Amino acid sequence: MREPYLFIKELQQAIEESVTALEPPLPDPPQPVTTDPGDDGWLFDSSREYMEQLKHYKTPDQWQKMHATMRSKHKVCPECGTSFVAVPRAVYCGGTCRKRGNRKRWRENNQRRAKKG
Ligand SMILES: [Zn+2]
Repeated sequence: MREPYLFIKELQQAIEESVTALEPPLPDPPQPVTTDPGDDGWLFDSSREYMEQLKHYKTPDQWQKMHATMRSKHKVCPECGTSFVAVPRAVYCGGTCRKRGNRKRWRENNQRRAKKG
């Protein structure tokens, strides 16, 4: 009778041989698809300023639309002269100027009424 240790050793050797001899049919590994980006065709360049980088991300049409939107939202406060980006209905830059402007308009309206009466 063989010793159990020897039997296990033989079995291990047989398994190792069958594993090293194993060559499963594998498909060819995928090859990377690269295109030459050219000198200034890079989409991202860390040396660019924010707006310059943004221009590279947008098509010329998108860039024009974005500027038109920015221009339409840009307003100047009639009270303090500060330029600001506004929601469509906004006239003043903030609450303080809005109250100041409304008070001024109210005073003007009441003076007119006083002169008429
Ligand atoms: Zn203001």
